[in-house]
Amino acid sequence: MTTAERRYGGPSDPLAPCVHCGFCLPACPTYLATGDEADSPRGRIVLMRALERNEIGADDAALAQHLDACLGCRGCEPVCPSGVAYGRGLEAARERLFEERGLPPLARAVLGMFRHEALWRPLFTAARALRATGLPRWMAGAGRTGFGMGMLAASRQQIRVGATGATRDAMPKHVTLSKAKGPKREGGPTVALFKGCVMDTLFRHVNDATRRTLEFNGYDVLEVEGQGCCGALHEHAGDRETAAALARTNVAALAGSGDYIVTNSAGCGALLKDYGHLLHHDAEAAAVGAKVRDVSELLAMAGPRPGAPLELNVAYDAPCHLQHAQRVHDAPLAVLRAIPLLQLRLLPDSDHCCGSAGIYSLLRPAMARAVLSSKIEAIAAARPRPGIVTTGNPGCLMQIGAGLIAAGLDIAVAHPVELLDESYRRLDRGY
Ligand code: SF4
Ligand code: SF4
Repeated sequence: MTTAERRYGGPSDPLAPCVHCGFCLPACPTYLATGDEADSPRGRIVLMRALERNEIGADDAALAQHLDACLGCRGCEPVCPSGVAYGRGLEAARERLFEERGLPPLARAVLGMFRHEALWRPLFTAARALRATGLPRWMAGAGRTGFGMGMLAASRQQIRVGATGATRDAMPKHVTLSKAKGPKREGGPTVALFKGCVMDTLFRHVNDATRRTLEFNGYDVLEVEGQGCCGALHEHAGDRETAAALARTNVAALAGSGDYIVTNSAGCGALLKDYGHLLHHDAEAAAVGAKVRDVSELLAMAGPRPGAPLELNVAYDAPCHLQHAQRVHDAPLAVLRAIPLLQLRLLPDSDHCCGSAGIYSLLRPAMARAVLSSKIEAIAAARPRPGIVTTGNPGCLMQIGAGLIAAGLDIAVAHPVELLDESYRRLDRGY
């Protein structure tokens, strides 16, 4: 296998079909933010192909600037009439840049932390403790520190559904509910929960809601030990060796467990499904990847069972790694439509990247905020204004939540399964 084949995961160059038509430009959030051709998919494809042909080096300043500025959102893929697999091309280019140029110190430190559970677990546990003091919500704002605090504050379970709607920050940190008692099907499907790192700490309430809503829809949810971070952040940064090491740990833990493997994080799900490619078509990794489903896919497959009415005005925002990478569009909407009286809307820009993109918002805060701004403006301009923005990815929940706080908008953020969980809780039928 040649180096190019190894990088691309096959014999053909995924960027070769580009005919430079430019249809992808209006779908690219960074091009819309800067208006610079080199910040567009078409411009980046020219740079990546020049890199592959060794016409420019990995130390080329323009290459570094414009490829680093790519969100990896893959919003350019579904609109491309030639079927350019932009994500595969970017993956290969970033791997080469990582090998030849390394990573900036901040990225190295953050990714190093995510590599070891002994580091990320205590850190996120401490962050949870800080979040519980209310200080991050108080310090949240528009500046760099304030926005970071807003992201932490936004990770909190923050909806409490009352008779008149949703209020912020009034819900206890963790709602203790009895085990769901859905109709158990004899020999019904079993599901291994992929716990993740951020989801198992800052968003444990979403993992709990995932478990309950699946059980209420007839699934048996299995706890599987020995899992870790999925490796998506490392893979996005080009560090495929670390991503592969983390993938091997998860494959060893999850192989043979359950009929399905469920995740509620779009970013994790996209890479978990792609473990076969990441591990060079290893059969066990491919088998694990083939069993992975987003929680919304499993719930939609089961129905899902309708819950009790919630009179809420909810805007759905589609995570890039769910809609573009996994091509899951309708399942989250089916989950939300199982809640009677919930008014569901898709606002302008709801299918555009929010600027979170893993650790991108940490490394390139100015561009991340520029990309987020049109989404926040659309939410602010909506009439009636939504009470909740819902999306199925932790980074998006934190980025949009922090943006709403920074804009002074009293709008909660929640994962779709949190809303379904609350709806089921109100059924009061043994849930
Ligand atoms: S990536 Fe696709 S849409 Fe964009 S310029 Fe190339 S062929 Fe056209
Ligand atoms: S992945 Fe996203 S940011 Fe990068 S070129 Fe495609 S649309 Fe633009």
